Amino acid sequence: MDRREFIGALAASSFACALVGCAGRGIRQAGGSVMTVRGPVDRADLGMTLTHEHLYADVRPYAEQAAKPLPPDMDDVVAVVLPYLQEIRRHGCRTLIDCTATTLGRDPLLIRRLSEASGLHMLTVTGAYVAADGRFIPPYVRDQTDEQLAARWIGEWRDGIGDTGVRPGLIKLGLEGDPLSDIERKVLRAAARTHLETGLVIAAHTGPWSEVEPGRNARCAFAQLALLEEAGVAPSAWIWVHAQNEALGSHHVRAARRGAWVSFDGFRPEQATDYVALIERMREEGLLDRVLVSQDAGWYNAGQPRGGEFKPFHPIFTALIPALQANGFDEDEIATLFVRNPARAFAVRERTQQAS
Ligand SMILES: [Zn+2]
Repeated sequence: MDRREFIGALAASSFACALVGCAGRGIRQAGGSVMTVRGPVDRADLGMTLTHEHLYADVRPYAEQAAKPLPPDMDDVVAVVLPYLQEIRRHGCRTLIDCTATTLGRDPLLIRRLSEASGLHMLTVTGAYVAADGRFIPPYVRDQTDEQLAARWIGEWRDGIGDTGVRPGLIKLGLEGDPLSDIERKVLRAAARTHLETGLVIAAHTGPWSEVEPGRNARCAFAQLALLEEAGVAPSAWIWVHAQNEALGSHHVRAARRGAWVSFDGFRPEQATDYVALIERMREEGLLDRVLVSQDAGWYNAGQPRGGEFKPFHPIFTALIPALQANGFDEDEIATLFVRNPARAFAVRERTQQAS
């Protein structure tokens, strides 16, 4: 942890806030804020956070989406999704990060409406998803240079997404190459440029499963890190999304030691034992402060009656946190995972290779 991060961690703890009355302007500036769909929020105010979820999505291939747009019936989405959000609010959740990529149904106005209705802070994304055999890649992502893509994403940050006035809180990528393809390398360079200009964290869906070939997902992850470092971006500006897809825990440790965020984010209630083991391993190595935990749940699906089968957001609170506590995780460690780490990861802050 560098000095700025240490000060930030202090700012994120309510005890420290009480101590300094949260008046230390220096702390706030150094700690930074998080960009929610309703504007900037001090990172100390994020509270209990789910870092990787989905509210609404359109998972039809891009060509099909372009040929036949299916704009969400906002009232219906709210009717279906709001009770799930109210439920996690009752469990103490204060922030939900919607990681739905730009061409998978990202809808800033819908997310803002759900944020207003639920009272939860929410974040949306900029970026590009080029995994899934390329079926979500729009023509401009193929045609434009990394510089042009970065200009587009920085424009969303500066002026809002389209004419919504909603600004992104993270850069979401989707990658799966081993080795990385040309287009994957291009969007990573664009993400590096965008990060250095905006301070937004880069959350990279890292695709390949390593069940058959342990180490495969990690190769994709470390290739990304190498490219970003080469572009001057520190590992602490990068989130290894779906790190649970890598079967070898030693790679999680290696990435975290290098400063990256390791995100175990596909939790389902029946996986409590597996997730406790993943997190326990990181704790044993003294790396709990590099770990993010979420569920990749939700998914009101465009084009399906009432959005299809919505996956609830509560299991982290009703199954995982109790399992962690039963395995000796104390309140402070739970706060590290679900309060302090999200606040540090998503704080808008330039993280350069030289400075970290
Ligand atoms: Zn996801």
